[in-house]
Amino acid sequence: MQPEIRGLSHLPGVQSIYCVGRNYMEHARELGNPVPDQPVIFTKPRTSVIQDGGQVLIPRQTSLVHHEVEMVAAVGRELKNATRQQAEQAIAGYGIGIDLTARDIQQQLKERSHPWDLAKGMDTFAPVSAFLPAGKAGSHRSLHLSLTRNGQTVQQGHTGEMLFGVEDLLAFLSTYFTLMPGDLLFTGTPEGVGPVTEGDRLHAVLSGEQGELASLSVSVAGDNGSGRLA
Ligand code: ZN
Repeated sequence: MQPEIRGLSHLPGVQSIYCVGRNYMEHARELGNPVPDQPVIFTKPRTSVIQDGGQVLIPRQTSLVHHEVEMVAAVGRELKNATRQQAEQAIAGYGIGIDLTARDIQQQLKERSHPWDLAKGMDTFAPVSAFLPAGKAGSHRSLHLSLTRNGQTVQQGHTGEMLFGVEDLLAFLSTYFTLMPGDLLFTGTPEGVGPVTEGDRLHAVLSGEQGELASLSVSVAGDNGSGRLA
């Protein structure tokens, strides 16, 4: 079953989930990565999605899960070989999400030049908020994102600092893939990524000139083997 996209009920639910790595210069630097000259793209399965109020489960395979707070765009129209303008017009709405990452697994995969999927796509690793329709969000280049962990602010960013804007990313993706209504794009994380552990509470907020646009609260638990909780 497809996870719903709350706030955008005209969409069919979550389809493909595209993510971009290293889209904020300071974050690329904090992990010792080069600043890319084209977007670094990976995907997550939609079974990784949980909603506001859900619970992140830390899998047994990892001992270091990091939070990455990210603005998330929802695609509202089919896009193939789109211009930046067509891509912009196809954005249905904006929300806030957390790209949970098993950093220890990712590091091992990077050392072997392997894809990152195992580190990024596990169950519950893509919490997303409800979405605000694009017309109500103002400019997507002037949004603030923040994350608190147990009440302490750990990440803050501004979408104007993204190396590749949402419309650039969607246009780029559409030269490789046909984008569909219900696709989500995680747009990369600002600096300040760090560990999450069992018992944590994470709270992410997307805000604009008119105040809070979207928010997301999740708790963190160990995976006791009982399976996926939504
Ligand atoms: Zn990320």
